[in-house]
Amino acid sequence: MSNAAAAAQIEKLRREITYHAHKYYVEDSPEISDFAYDALFRQLQDLEAAHPELDDPNSPTHRVGGTPLDSFTKVTHAVPMGSLTDVFNYDELRDFLARVAEQVPDALCSVEPKIDGLSVALNYRDGSFVGGATRGDGLVGEDVTHNLRTIGSIPLTLKEPIPSLCVRGEVFLPRARFHALNARREENGEPLLANPRNAAAGSLRQLDPKVAAERGLDIYVFNLQSADWGNTSAPASHIESLERLRALGFKLITHALLPAKAEPIIAEIERIGAMRDALPCDIDGVVIKLDRFADRAVMGEGTSTPKWAVAYKFPPEQKQTVLRDITVAVGRTGVLTPTAVLDPVRLAGTTVTRATLHNLDFIREKGIMLGDVVTVQKAGDIIPELVCAHPEKRQGNETVYEMPTCCPSCGEPVFRDEGEAAVRCTNGACPAQVARSIEHFASKNAMSIDGLGPQIVELLLSEGLIADTADLYTLTADQIASLERMGEKSAQNLIAAIAASKDAGLERLIFALGIRNIGAVAAASLAHYAGSLERCFTLTAEELCSIDDFGAITADCVVNYFSHPQNIALCRRLMEAGVCTEPKQQPTDNSLAGTTFVLTGTLPTLSRSEASALITARGGKVSSSVSKKTHYVVAGEEAGSKLTRAKELGITILDEAGLLALLG
Ligand code: AMP
Ligand code: ZN
Repeated sequence: MSNAAAAAQIEKLRREITYHAHKYYVEDSPEISDFAYDALFRQLQDLEAAHPELDDPNSPTHRVGGTPLDSFTKVTHAVPMGSLTDVFNYDELRDFLARVAEQVPDALCSVEPKIDGLSVALNYRDGSFVGGATRGDGLVGEDVTHNLRTIGSIPLTLKEPIPSLCVRGEVFLPRARFHALNARREENGEPLLANPRNAAAGSLRQLDPKVAAERGLDIYVFNLQSADWGNTSAPASHIESLERLRALGFKLITHALLPAKAEPIIAEIERIGAMRDALPCDIDGVVIKLDRFADRAVMGEGTSTPKWAVAYKFPPEQKQTVLRDITVAVGRTGVLTPTAVLDPVRLAGTTVTRATLHNLDFIREKGIMLGDVVTVQKAGDIIPELVCAHPEKRQGNETVYEMPTCCPSCGEPVFRDEGEAAVRCTNGACPAQVARSIEHFASKNAMSIDGLGPQIVELLLSEGLIADTADLYTLTADQIASLERMGEKSAQNLIAAIAASKDAGLERLIFALGIRNIGAVAAASLAHYAGSLERCFTLTAEELCSIDDFGAITADCVVNYFSHPQNIALCRRLMEAGVCTEPKQQPTDNSLAGTTFVLTGTLPTLSRSEASALITARGGKVSSSVSKKTHYVVAGEEAGSKLTRAKELGITILDEAGLLALLG
């Protein structure tokens, strides 16, 4: 084929595929079979491979994922990506509508579901997709163009080549895909993703676009940020702009145009609420915005949110079900935690069968009996919790629940400390506690042994291959490969991960030991103070109290731990196995003494605990809420109300780079 003919053919295939992709992904009404579509796609791939000089980043073939990135680039949004004022009940909504009525007669509102996904901005130049970014802190986000290209419902070429365009949409992982993804992860023994929103965030922040492509993200576009319409006049209202965007090929949020009056708007909110389960994505509320741009100008902008719109947040969804049973699990420190076993109910998009009951006091305070009808809800729409029991619905066969008097794992008697709600098994050799403490030892902020999850720990223990954490370092790949469902490859990976953990450093090692009341931060302080594991054996309570943030209780816990000969023996065996017992970080300066930080949102590379550890290592304090005493707010991706509060108080806001610069 001549070059000119190839170019023409490639052009034709790209146009055809774009047309059919739009039918499939945006309109949901494909005209050709998947098979025929795949055939066109392969034809284009082959031609492009033969003619690399005709490559185009917006060719539909790039949707399956190109080359991975090394890191994300920051981009400043041309139009800031703001947030919305929340209203939590109909009274607050009425207040908003009253303010509108005062200033704008006969206002109209667009009422839209509030998609619980991730906000992105998409940019087009002369009808071609040129890039997109996450919201970040609203002013600066991350360039995730490579992953956005994999989303079938994002047009790479617009139906009209208007000079420039920026739109905003919400990227989400369709619930069905989320469940399929988790089912696969469960099969592979991988950790489950908490909810579709986290899964979408994780997918969009992958450096390798192939991962995002496989996940199958989707988008609803909900706003026109800015545009140069060329010869056409600009739209005068939100709905008009949405219609323009639809004509350009975008997949739009559903919207209703209603008078700005409580009755019709509340009816629409109720309607949207009732069809929540039937939607392909999670929604956490309803957005109500004035429609005409002229009306918006009258209402104006607030400090961080517009005055012409509000987000009505759904109350946590509640349902009634029956408490069938209560099971008890034994934690790392021997605490017995009761869990409700419920008749399955659908709640905020997932099936709930369990809810924590915390302890016996909780059960008594709520007056819960076995067999009761109970109300459950999802707090923050993630973790199911038991709200109350309904004694009026009792049939007479309900029974009072008693905590077991013996540990369900080892059978030894359990104790309840004076003045404490928790019931505890004090048998140090209790299998459940041993299993939990090995899981803790391997966990991310401890020795971070990838692949050593609860199931493997259980198997290693039940096969007698290990009895405690020090035994991990004696395991061989052959032993692991002999376990059920473990292959050669995963056995070798696990051995490598265990070997690598030897180098974790004393900070993590002390945390990994699971000493009561010693979290990751206290463990790091102790490591820096002591300088070696052996020195920890002999520290007195008095010496320990001189460590920053150590009180009498924490000091006692440390002394108590190292007073047990079996704990010392374990530490010695870890040393003999070659586990590093010296601090990784040099105890650093005190340059941030007296400086208070608040962390919010997800930072690009540091986890919350890593960022905290870096700050505290320099004497700084990390606090959980923003006040006038806060010196810096470190804000990451999807920062929430803390950022808003910081802006209101005029507190210096840092991104990760800013924090690292401050840390030197
Ligand atoms: P918040 O983050 O609670 O201030 O809520 C604002 C967020 O809601 C925006 O950042 C959007 O990402 C998201 N959102 C979802 N659906 C819509 C919609 N239909 N209109 C406006 N914002 C929406
Ligand atoms: Zn026990």
